[in-house]
Amino acid sequence: MFVKGCGQLVLGCMAVAMGISMGAAQQTAAAPAGAAETAYVPIPGFDTSSIDATADPCTDFYKFACGRFAANHPIPADQAGVDQFYALYNVNTQALNGILTKEAAGGASRSPDEQKIGDYYAACMNTDLIEQKGLAPVDPLLKEIDGLGDGMRAKLALPMLIGKLQRMGVSVFFGYGEQQDFKDATKQIAFVSQGGLGLPEKDYYLRTGAKDIEIRQQYEAHIAKMLTLAGEDAEKAKQDAAAILAFETALAKGSMGVVDLREPEKTYYMKSIADFEASISPVNFTQFMEGIHSPRVTELNDSTPEFFPVLVKEVRATDMETLKAYMRYNVLSAYSSQLPKRFDDETFDFYSRKLNGQPEQEPRWKRCSNAVNGALGEALGKVYVAQYFAGDSKAKMVEMVKDIETAMDRDIDSLDWMSPATKVRAKEKLHGVANKIGYPDKWRDYSALEVKRDDPVGNSERADAFENDRQLNKIGKPVDHGEWGMTPPTVNAYYDPSMNDINFPAGILQPSFYDKTQDDAVNYGHIGAVIGHELTHGFDDEGKKFDAKGNLSDWWTAEDTKKFEAKTDCLVKEYGGFTAVHDAAGDVKVNGKLTLGENTADNGGLVLAYMAYLERAKAEGVDLAAKKDGYTPPQRFYIAFAQNWCENARPEQVRNQVLVDPHSPDHFRANGAIVNQPGFAAAFSCKKGAPMVPADSCRVW
Ligand SMILES: [Zn+2]
Repeated sequence: MFVKGCGQLVLGCMAVAMGISMGAAQQTAAAPAGAAETAYVPIPGFDTSSIDATADPCTDFYKFACGRFAANHPIPADQAGVDQFYALYNVNTQALNGILTKEAAGGASRSPDEQKIGDYYAACMNTDLIEQKGLAPVDPLLKEIDGLGDGMRAKLALPMLIGKLQRMGVSVFFGYGEQQDFKDATKQIAFVSQGGLGLPEKDYYLRTGAKDIEIRQQYEAHIAKMLTLAGEDAEKAKQDAAAILAFETALAKGSMGVVDLREPEKTYYMKSIADFEASISPVNFTQFMEGIHSPRVTELNDSTPEFFPVLVKEVRATDMETLKAYMRYNVLSAYSSQLPKRFDDETFDFYSRKLNGQPEQEPRWKRCSNAVNGALGEALGKVYVAQYFAGDSKAKMVEMVKDIETAMDRDIDSLDWMSPATKVRAKEKLHGVANKIGYPDKWRDYSALEVKRDDPVGNSERADAFENDRQLNKIGKPVDHGEWGMTPPTVNAYYDPSMNDINFPAGILQPSFYDKTQDDAVNYGHIGAVIGHELTHGFDDEGKKFDAKGNLSDWWTAEDTKKFEAKTDCLVKEYGGFTAVHDAAGDVKVNGKLTLGENTADNGGLVLAYMAYLERAKAEGVDLAAKKDGYTPPQRFYIAFAQNWCENARPEQVRNQVLVDPHSPDHFRANGAIVNQPGFAAAFSCKKGAPMVPADSCRVW
């Protein structure tokens, strides 16, 4: 969601914010039927095979800890890159596929949830049926778009149809949804936001470099091809594509950039519905809310207020033919993975091959397993947890989280730059953090969602509508603090500033991130640093603006904020100096401002995890000089941390990530944090002034 839950460990939440159809972007390519053919195995918690012992850890710690990773892990053709997250994602997807293959076999003994996940998967895998159906499943929507007619009357009828399309997962024109009120976290309210773009974010439409121009040309050709595949005359499709790109470019000009979107006070403008409607006259917003099945609201957050006047103006200025083609294209794009292969292949070709450099589509069993995880994540997650989430890992996680929270308590005490008054409030916030580990206490009820074995597109439409209605039905109701924003098999974690909670799905609590066969040094370096990362998000440049109760309120003294900003500026400069892509299309540097929250979390998280580890080791009488696998416990801790970020990536993917994603590319996350660690030099006997122990290091938390 646009305005919340952006403190994730990996992957950009910004992409979702910008209204990209990730369904289309991620679920791409041709596919042999059948179950998993590759047996994916987890990477162990302490991966000696990745260590390059010939590298000097004091000079380039990433090279030392991960130097042999890329050679040992060539990028499979069906991936944009490979790293620890991808490796575990493959292991988990294989596990999900095992569950789904069994449930897809059918049988009368299946529970209602098992029927739904099994039949959703079976329908998705049935490519013969998909070919046979052709465009018939989306025909009613395409006809409705065509039937709008022409001129002003057609434009006035648009809001109802836009609502209907958005409800079924077709992200056109703008965004609408539910969020916790930034200033009163007990309230769930409606928000509207910018959206409607098919490229990752606004600057993709506006930058003038050769690579940027090339991507826009490829995007335009892709739109034309999709329209042609659906039966449009090639010449007409070309004209439509050019007009659609021009329309989206105008919307991009009225959109906020990725750096501003991270600032909650820049995306919070409460308005009465009457005032909002007046600002977008003559648009009938009530009709839109009817179309999307929203409860009536009296107020909403107009989160990107400069966008709507531009949107209204552009819709007015653009002919109905173009707007219809824009909606037609978006319907085809949103459902491409459940449409005939030609649509699926074309969507893959642009979003994954051209934009991300991925040569081949993921096999269909992977894509369909993840489609079920997206549509019925807690029904599938319930089975996944029962089979794969051992009870003892939850107990160990609870202990580690407590250790790291205790470390942060001590860390706050020891800060020389923070006043006693702000320290009291910081601790209040820390003690207010709720910890969620593994899976929800109460599973989601999918009984109202109909899944048919012979209707892949319909399943996708109904699942999107079900999720839309679930979200919007929260408006006006009390907050459910037990709700999860990620499904249990997800390999990720997040902090939610409005909830003030940290969330670790079962999917990430496995090797390499958590390995019960390893010692504490390794696990505190891996998952401990992840826990510290999420906890520190509550105190990064964005999280610091929310208090213990999840409200946007400034609990800092002005003096302390000034000192905090001076400290975070150090990180902006450090990461802004990294060159992420260096190729013929031009250098791309890491955006120090965009990645500041994540970098602060990485740095603080590692400090806290190490403090917590040393305490745990002391309590358990660990000999910090005793070597295992050739390394002392402190060395194992830091190697395990850096190995969270071992990667092998394609330049296209890195280029995209740097432009859109608030996370720095993986390998910078290793050295970027290591150079600022007070415990690192002693662990590896590095001299002050060595590249990994610079004189002018940064320290916030
Ligand atoms: Zn994060």
